Amino acid sequence: MATIEQHAHPQSNGAGTLEHLPVLNPATGETVGHVPSMGASEVEALVARARAAQPIWNSLGYKGRGAIMRDFRRWLVQNRDRLLETIVAESGKTREDAQLAELVYVADSLGFWAKHAEKFLRDRKMRPHSPFLLGRRLVERHRPYGVVGVIGPWNYPLTNNFGDCIPALMAGNTVVLKPATLTPLTSLLVAEGLKAVGIPDDVFLVATGGGGETGKALIDQADMIMFTGSTDVGKKIMAQASERLTPISLELGGNDPMIVLEDADLERAANAAVFYSMSNSGQTCISIERCYAHEDIHDEFVSKVVEKTRKLRQGEPGGPGSVEVGAITFEDQLELLDEHVADAVEKGARVLTGGRRREGRGDFFEPTVLTGVDHSMRIMTEETFGPTLPIMRVPDEEEAIRLANDSIYGLDSSVWTRDVARGERVARRLETGGACVNDAIINYLATEVAFGGAKQSGIGARHSVEGIKKYCQSQAILITRFAPKREVHFFPHSRRMTKLLERFIVLMYGRGARR
Ligand code: NAD
Repeated sequence: MATIEQHAHPQSNGAGTLEHLPVLNPATGETVGHVPSMGASEVEALVARARAAQPIWNSLGYKGRGAIMRDFRRWLVQNRDRLLETIVAESGKTREDAQLAELVYVADSLGFWAKHAEKFLRDRKMRPHSPFLLGRRLVERHRPYGVVGVIGPWNYPLTNNFGDCIPALMAGNTVVLKPATLTPLTSLLVAEGLKAVGIPDDVFLVATGGGGETGKALIDQADMIMFTGSTDVGKKIMAQASERLTPISLELGGNDPMIVLEDADLERAANAAVFYSMSNSGQTCISIERCYAHEDIHDEFVSKVVEKTRKLRQGEPGGPGSVEVGAITFEDQLELLDEHVADAVEKGARVLTGGRRREGRGDFFEPTVLTGVDHSMRIMTEETFGPTLPIMRVPDEEEAIRLANDSIYGLDSSVWTRDVARGERVARRLETGGACVNDAIINYLATEVAFGGAKQSGIGARHSVEGIKKYCQSQAILITRFAPKREVHFFPHSRRMTKLLERFIVLMYGRGARR
């Protein structure tokens, strides 16, 4: 891990001689790096540097910026071992979790935005529809805000930290990224890689430190804030951003339901239920957090899920294929997991496998399946964020939909049935930003459609046109070339003109629908 120490050195991001925060490997408890804890003045200096660099970056145009993104993609793939080792070391996740959900996502995303940014942000020229604007031309354009502050969580040190910087950069902004306090090393490695492929100085800067100080300082300085994290912190960010009316986009927590109908392919549904609830130790905003199984198939589905869960290997991630389930990244989560399982058991749930922390080195929680659960239990109504799968028996489709929607969250969801038309009908009734039929989580790779949370799972969206327009101030330009010296509505007012206008209004707008 010597190389990681080197990149975490204060001089690599200009932080001088600040207090340093240790970065721990949660699978082993070992310290794998140190990063400076930046205060308000350091963050202010970073944002000032980024602001000075923005016009140069913007002047490179989409082609120039896209070329750097593509070169960086090659760098990431060439340096994949170092990248994956860094992610695994600071998060405790498995190499496979890092490979698919971090390296693949970001590599794909770099190409996607390099290709589509220009098309999504192109000027729109129009003729006005209003008779009052005859002869004018209209242009709608999108101007980058300037310096975007990105604040990210620990569960995806690459995807949910640098991932959101890509469209911000492609739009012509410079970026100051505040990575999660627990997992900053991946972001520092990204800064090194971007420098290696020739990104101009100060276009991408990393502000390391805690949320309360470093994160808050960034909100006070940046021109726009892109935040991914918990709903509780999202609300604080929104309140702080309201002081300067700084535009924000919030990607927050979830409690994603899975509905297994009586005509589902149970083998696929069970494999998916185990994978999408236990991969990354269940620490994914869009993991399957709760399951509703139709009573006709409930018992068979549960026994398949339990059998597959018992076969999972858990432990310190080694080389490729070493374990299926890694560590819990944030130690405090273990307490929450204990609490949710204990609360469920106290209220009548049965733990069919797992249910406890693992003894010994590192922070691990056993892959856990529960039945006999209901909505009086925290494990069903709150975000648990661990390798837990509570399965509830439901009498019919209607009840499954009602329970799935009985949540303050609305991030992602899934419905499993062999009848895809029925699946789509159910999906359309789920109050979530994303919904899959016979799939889950993988929709995060569908960058062409917007991804964002409903209800308390967020505001705004990433991906698609929305995912880049949000990093720009739109400006509508009206151009008048040929026009009279005096318009009819100019001063002075006259009785004749007012009456004429009234007749015109009645003629133009005074009719209802033609049937
Ligand atoms: P968190 O909210 O605790 O922290 C997220 C980031 O905010 C960290 O960088 C933290 O240092 C910073 N922060 C904390 N307090 C702050 C403050 N007052 N001002 C500014 N910054 C502050 O979240 P977490 O525990 O790191 O991540 C897990 C959560 O993130 C889960 O709820 C998960 O569902 C959510 N998440 C959502 C998505 C999504 O796309 N919707 C993706 C990943 C994670």
